[in-house]
Amino acid sequence: MSGAAGTGLAGGRREELRRGLEALGFDVVRFTSAAPGGGDSLRAWLDAGRHADMAWMERTVEKRGAPGLVLAGARSVIVLGVNYWPGKLAADSRNGGPRWARYALHEDYHDTLKPGLVAAGKLLERTVACTSDDYRYYTDTGPVMERGLAARAGLGFRGKNAMLISREHGNWLLLSVILTRCEIEPDAPLRGDSPLRHASHEPAGLLCGKCTRCLTACPTAAFPEPGIVDARRCISYQTIENKGVIPRELRAGIGARLFGCDVCLEVCPWNRFAQEGRRLLLATRHDLADLELAEILALTPERFAEVFRRTPVKRLKLAGLLRNACVVAANLGDAAHVPALVRLAGHASPLVRAHAVWAVRRLAGVQAAALLEPARAAETDPQVLAEYDAAQA
Ligand code: SF4
Ligand code: SF4
Repeated sequence: MSGAAGTGLAGGRREELRRGLEALGFDVVRFTSAAPGGGDSLRAWLDAGRHADMAWMERTVEKRGAPGLVLAGARSVIVLGVNYWPGKLAADSRNGGPRWARYALHEDYHDTLKPGLVAAGKLLERTVACTSDDYRYYTDTGPVMERGLAARAGLGFRGKNAMLISREHGNWLLLSVILTRCEIEPDAPLRGDSPLRHASHEPAGLLCGKCTRCLTACPTAAFPEPGIVDARRCISYQTIENKGVIPRELRAGIGARLFGCDVCLEVCPWNRFAQEGRRLLLATRHDLADLELAEILALTPERFAEVFRRTPVKRLKLAGLLRNACVVAANLGDAAHVPALVRLAGHASPLVRAHAVWAVRRLAGVQAAALLEPARAAETDPQVLAEYDAAQA
């Protein structure tokens, strides 16, 4: 740690740093302390098993509640928000086609925000005369709780949808944090009375009032209580993080959502204040929204790599995307997809075969057994065989 890192930054010099960070492309810049917090609520969530199979969260629970365990000697946190709201542009998927979470209609923000964070670190070094050892930055990938830190920094509040909601930008901020040993005067959190302030959870719904739109709009009933998401029932988890079979009872609720879900974000009335983002640190890929489901069902490994290179979808891999596409095809109810789905029932991946079988049975009715007969005769995987034998809803 450099000696200069102990110098407190306040007043005009702090505002100069804020303006400098905004000029780099961050739409919101707030400061808070690196004091521990939020660990109890995370522990309660994990103890209830609501993290599904995201075991890495268990392994890092202590660090997540204490920035000082991530960066020894951390005193302050800089919270940075990038507004990705596309305004009135055609960011939504075409009517009747597959739908994408809006953030996915950009190149992977973990990659595109990085140059901004590198530049932010250099600016911090110049402003407070610290070294690169005195800070560490994360964008949704490190053992830090970005939303809790953002709420503490007054960037917004945690809504009943468990998202960070900004009064200026609604639900459409991508969050990054810089933990630093430099001392920076903290911003104040928003004021208000949370109806959900109780012992085991961080307050949620500070400025929600009586609204419950997100809770009732969730297609898969993933909110066991306001402010708490059960990842096991959440479409975002099931279509992105889950690498295995999607539970049959949740598939219909997924509807046309091919990758992620924005329902509990987009119904929020706080979005009415959102302005189109500058997106200086983002690279839009709105062309993905124009992909037809038939094209996706026919993707080869080469075409998948070509189309989804540099996007967050690449981490899902081809089998994961085809799995989701089978579910969407069945939910859209278009029998024109049956031939493609029958082909996928013979795919090399058992994950794809399982969901293709489910989709053919949903779409082809009494003809499904005959259409699937060759694939079934060759099938040996127990999970796929279970799809053939499952009772039809
Ligand atoms: S992302 Fe979708 S499925 Fe998940 S909690 Fe929100 S509305 Fe429900
Ligand atoms: S939809 Fe309503 S209840 Fe949900 S986060 Fe927004 S304001 Fe709060």
